[in-house]
Amino acid sequence: MKCPVCRTKQLKSVTLEEHLNAKTCSQCEGNWIASEDYQKWLDQQEETLPEKEPEVSFDIKDNTKAKLCPQCDRILIKYKVGHGVDFFLDHCNSCNGVWFDKNEWDALKERNLHDEVHYMFTKSWQKKIRDEEIREMLNKMYVSKFGKDSYEEAKRIREWLQEQPETMTLLAFLSDEDPYQL
Ligand SMILES: [Zn+2]
Ligand SMILES: [Zn+2]
Repeated sequence: MKCPVCRTKQLKSVTLEEHLNAKTCSQCEGNWIASEDYQKWLDQQEETLPEKEPEVSFDIKDNTKAKLCPQCDRILIKYKVGHGVDFFLDHCNSCNGVWFDKNEWDALKERNLHDEVHYMFTKSWQKKIRDEEIREMLNKMYVSKFGKDSYEEAKRIREWLQEQPETMTLLAFLSDEDPYQL
């Protein structure tokens, strides 16, 4: 089995974690985890660990060039991890194996996201990331349109409005040029 990054370099078997077998490249230090090896390891885990903030940061050079699956030669598809993680994972949609560039596994482990890798390639995980990106984009747009202070004030009023029993009437009152004319 050859390294999808270094191409000619042979991958070697390693034990990445207790009960987790992987293949590693001694040149680029990336790791390949086959679907059944990941599943076996996952079965040994008692529960999904709660996500946490990282205490250590890792130097990651997300390799952006196209890679082929070392198991079945298909093109690996890039998936965003999201949750504040800015690199992509390379996943084989055919055999479900995953390629981790150097330090990517450790960075996920530092966040307790390493036991959720199998979810990262699902539609619902990817949709959440997109929703979060849209939120972030709109938030920035509002800040630049209204200014930070006015935006904060608008959010406060919005919250207050939604708690009122007469929200729509209040809105009409606020937007009417002269609410004292019939
Ligand atoms: Zn390599
Ligand atoms: Zn494959």
